[in-house]
Amino acid sequence: MNKLIIYIDMDGVLANFGKAAEEHPDNGTIGYEPDLILDFSKFEPMPGAINAVKELTEMGHDLFIATTPPWDHPDSWAQKRTWVLEHLPQFKKRMFLTHRKDLLKGEILIDDSSSRGQAEFEGTWFHFGKNGIDWKYVVEGIRGIMQVEKTWEPKEVGSEKSDFLPHNLKNK
Ligand SMILES: [Mg+2]
Repeated sequence: MNKLIIYIDMDGVLANFGKAAEEHPDNGTIGYEPDLILDFSKFEPMPGAINAVKELTEMGHDLFIATTPPWDHPDSWAQKRTWVLEHLPQFKKRMFLTHRKDLLKGEILIDDSSSRGQAEFEGTWFHFGKNGIDWKYVVEGIRGIMQVEKTWEPKEVGSEKSDFLPHNLKNK
């Protein structure tokens, strides 16, 4: 297998929701709910995100966005599309809007949240932002997975490919 299906979250992974939330003039006031009032088309890209997408694409993987737009801020659904067309137009028609990331079919999920079924995703979940997991870590981690895929040989008795690979890749 030399091509993985990879899902990438938007807020906090591709798009800098946190920075916009912090800089909004209502920040710190009672009842401030950035989810419901921010313009999602105006976020800055997260550090390293654009280049990481480029690297993963060059590795030949199949990339998709998987994002959960706030249900009660329907404009944010369209704003996300606008953001994608401006910053990462290669994701045109490659977006999943979902509150159930556990139902996605694929090998890798890159996501900073744990409240949408990320832990139940069938593949490997990179918990972005946790324990220092940044874009550099993710890209090198995926590179490492592919290296095992390519070069692994059963040299030692009792050694299995699955000792080195995420569980859903061991039989491929
Ligand atoms: Mg997120």
